[in-house]
Amino acid sequence: MSGKITLIQGDITELQVDAIVNAANNSLLGGGGVDGAIHRAAGPELLAYCRTLNGCDTGKAKISPGFKLPADYVIHTVGPVWQGGGHGEAEQLASCYRESLKQAAEKGLKSIAFPAISCGVYGYPVQQACDIAVNTVSQFLAQESSLRKVIFCAFDNAVHQALMNALDNHKLH
Ligand code: ADP
Repeated sequence: MSGKITLIQGDITELQVDAIVNAANNSLLGGGGVDGAIHRAAGPELLAYCRTLNGCDTGKAKISPGFKLPADYVIHTVGPVWQGGGHGEAEQLASCYRESLKQAAEKGLKSIAFPAISCGVYGYPVQQACDIAVNTVSQFLAQESSLRKVIFCAFDNAVHQALMNALDNHKLH
């Protein structure tokens, strides 16, 4: 099961996978960070499509085509804004990973790549977020068999290191 998980450092928009996950906002109408990069790489058709999705609640996920991206689909999920940890942020973040994986499994997709949801402008403490990411994905893969490959795509060094720590810890348990 852990053999299905890979960690890379780079730009998620360049990955040739069945789906990449977008750390979007509730409007699904684009933003900064990875959201902006995905919309730029996918082209204006993505925004036009997202207008038809009527937004997305925090912790949920919606799927669109990838348009000009090498990935076939984009799964848009909305992470929690960090507010100190006492506002259900951990459960919402875990839900983002679960709901995204569910969308991928429902479409029969085999490979999916995640950015570090909520670890940018949404301010989630990076190590805590990466621990949740690794634990939630591992739990899902233990039950769901159609997915063959889950890639964690770290953009910056801090996230890359935190994901390595989380994966190492996970193997020990
Ligand atoms: P959020 O609003 O959920 O915090 P951000 O886009 O601000 O989302 O940041 C989420 C993570 O995505 C951050 O770790 C950021 O460094 C990373 N990121 C930004 N651009 C890219 C990219 N092109 N590919 C992969 N990750 C990216």
